[in-house]
Amino acid sequence: KLILAGVGVAFLAVRWSAPSFDAESLRGARVLVTGASTGIGEQIAYHYARFGAQVVITARRANVLQQVAEKCLSLGAQKALYIAADMADESDPDRVISFAVDQLGGLDYLVLNHIGPSPFSMWEGDVDHTKWLMKVNFFSYVEMTWKALLSLEQSKGSLVIVSSLLGKMPSPFVAPYSSTKFALNGFFGSLQHELAMKKSNVSISICTLGLIDTESAMEKVRSVTDVPAYPATEAALNIIIAGATKQQEVFYPWFTYTASLTKDWFPSVTNYVIRNTYKYMP
Ligand code: NDP
Repeated sequence: KLILAGVGVAFLAVRWSAPSFDAESLRGARVLVTGASTGIGEQIAYHYARFGAQVVITARRANVLQQVAEKCLSLGAQKALYIAADMADESDPDRVISFAVDQLGGLDYLVLNHIGPSPFSMWEGDVDHTKWLMKVNFFSYVEMTWKALLSLEQSKGSLVIVSSLLGKMPSPFVAPYSSTKFALNGFFGSLQHELAMKKSNVSISICTLGLIDTESAMEKVRSVTDVPAYPATEAALNIIIAGATKQQEVFYPWFTYTASLTKDWFPSVTNYVIRNTYKYMP
């Protein structure tokens, strides 16, 4: 009971210490959202649009991006532009940042959210896929950050990294994906310290998400787990608020915070729970 009370108090302390969100601050904000053709990224774009921001969205499929951009305009975006790009490509991460900075005249928010498709299965030695996924889910984030840093510094801007509980807690069937999210947490956690020590204007918000009801996630896990999935639109709003209020770390849904806090207290219990979350017959 004492442990639970302690966790509860820690959680409430984090919630209460969160600065308040002023939606008006996003009117006219210059925003780039990656992975915005579907899922959480698409919902992030729509929220920014409702707040009257100027958005650039990117992903690989131009025809889908065009529809999302049109919907952004109808929801109230001051500007909605798109650029098709493949984050596994050598030059596309830089090209996308240049496009957004040129078109918007600078950048206030860079929301890095895209992920490449990855199987939900036991790892059977596919090294090439693991390398490719590292490129899409991790190295492109690093490249885009470096390219955007000067613009963000000039605008006192925010960098928002969409990560996962699987970047803090390994789980079966997602070894390549989980390793890309651990890499993100390590890299951007380190960069948070460095920017603070340099008294940089740029904030970094790392967002830890649990299972969210996007089509791509649901089609993987629907038949193997009963873990509840949370709405993408609410996850997206939490991500935007994290950037706007310059929070270092946010957790959605709330229990991902409790899980990351308590996972090492009783490792054998944690491992038992994780392994029994999935229906698996060898
Ligand atoms: P989706 O699979 O729905 O969307 C992924 C996006 O990335 C799409 O817009 C896709 O568009 C784009 N994309 C895929 N490959 C590439 C590529 N090579 N280059 C550029 N863009 C690419 O993902 P979710 O919305 O479910 O997840 C969004 C974020 O939330 C991710 O960072 C994920 O790790 C995180 N998250 C999600 C959870 C969930 O349960 N859904 C749980 C925890 C974290 P296109 O195909 O057009 O390129």
